[in-house]
Amino acid sequence: MQEIKFYSGENIPLELHKVRVVQKLHLVPIERRLEALKEAGFNTFRLSTMDVFLDMLTDSGTNAMSDNQIAAMMQADDAYAGSQSFVRLEKAVQDVLGKKYLLPVHQGRAAENIISVAYVRKGSLVPMNYHFTTAMAHITDKGGQIAELLYDEAYVINSDHPFKGNMNIEKLEEVINYHGAKNIPFIRMEASTNLIGGQPFSIQNLRDVRAIADKYGIRLILDGSLLGENAFLVLQREEEFKDSDMETVIHTMTGLADLCYFSARKLSSSRGGGICTDSLEIFRELEAFIPLYEGFLTYGGMSIREVEAMAVGLYETLDESMICQSPSFIKYLVDALDAKGIPVIKPAGVLGAHVDAMQVCAHIPQSQYPAGALAAALFLISGVRGMERGSVSNQRDEYGNETYSDMELLRLAVPRRVFTLSQIKYVEDRLNWLYDNRELIGGLKFVYEPPVLRFFMGGLAPIGDWPEKMMAKFKEDFGDSL
Ligand SMILES: *Cc1c(COP(=O)(O)O)cnc(C)c1O
Repeated sequence: MQEIKFYSGENIPLELHKVRVVQKLHLVPIERRLEALKEAGFNTFRLSTMDVFLDMLTDSGTNAMSDNQIAAMMQADDAYAGSQSFVRLEKAVQDVLGKKYLLPVHQGRAAENIISVAYVRKGSLVPMNYHFTTAMAHITDKGGQIAELLYDEAYVINSDHPFKGNMNIEKLEEVINYHGAKNIPFIRMEASTNLIGGQPFSIQNLRDVRAIADKYGIRLILDGSLLGENAFLVLQREEEFKDSDMETVIHTMTGLADLCYFSARKLSSSRGGGICTDSLEIFRELEAFIPLYEGFLTYGGMSIREVEAMAVGLYETLDESMICQSPSFIKYLVDALDAKGIPVIKPAGVLGAHVDAMQVCAHIPQSQYPAGALAAALFLISGVRGMERGSVSNQRDEYGNETYSDMELLRLAVPRRVFTLSQIKYVEDRLNWLYDNRELIGGLKFVYEPPVLRFFMGGLAPIGDWPEKMMAKFKEDFGDSL
């Protein structure tokens, strides 16, 4: 893609789209934000958008849709079975993802459920580069276990390694030899490894994983929810592909996997999801679960309008000038925070900027959830809603013991074509203030802990009155500014 240079020499990510439909935002006073936090149990998932200014919770279903997607939703062929909208989606999957068969599902985790129901048994082990919350929950729900096989450099916050999402090939072979190939239903590779900061794997690494899968006769499954961004970073960072294009890179990646599943909420700026494969055998193994859990095979639990938006969105992922928007804004934010000495995951990945709460809140023990505390504190002083990606997002082990996360991150998602650069600058400004006042952030404790995926609906409370003290300091510094 051609770079756009500024006469000033500044590195400014330029928006290559214009805004035609807008939504009003609410920046409420800090007193209301404190009340809202209390009502939400200091869990940003439970906040109401009436209290949120910039919603950086997730990229899931929050990317801006294009005019062509909205237009396609109007031509939806709303039939229970045999819909032409599904025919268009199937064609888009064949063209963009290069896979022949498509099983539609209502969102990414539904694909994880079906794959786990079909292949995971008690005693199964699934090696993966790194877990994703819902993928892990579905595998363990069916009695399986996971093995995370990243290289050590993946856990280094301040790094310039281009492919921190790579799977450790030596460890993969060790794990297979130790557990036995027959107990390993599949190897899972996640594009743009979400929970370690949206970090990609290289195609060379995927080829190496494929070789091991072939050697031991194990299926290779690709979680392609963030496939477009992984492909974009391959173009940027992998020598062999520097003159290549999105279509070639995506086809190369999906071509190495036996099955690719995805959340269309991320991949194609729509809703829904899918499982695709070239193998009729795999298709047959999974097919019957679609009507059981999702819906008929030509809508899979999605509204038919979503099916149309997904088809168009898939073609749009091939457009580098579209796909680059979120990674370039993320890079801008990461570089700005890094310049101020705020610890963020580097190199900048996809999905969002990831602030290292383990360092920012070094005074808060992991048992008091530093990343959750940082997310709450940022919301309090800015109305910016990020997401905790640390120990709150972890699940307890089989004996009910707390397991601490490898990283304690505050994730600030930057969905595609949603925010303007001045909004990104506001985030940067408030984070600078918070970093300068970081000793005011205190810990959290659970007051309501659901047994599964506790981070979604769990309730926490501050340890001590640090939120009130922080509000007082904010008012001292900002006067009556919001
Ligand atoms: C979001 C996500 C999922 C789950 O998709 P949903 O549509 O939210 O159910 C699975 N894997 C990865 C890597 C994701 O980012």
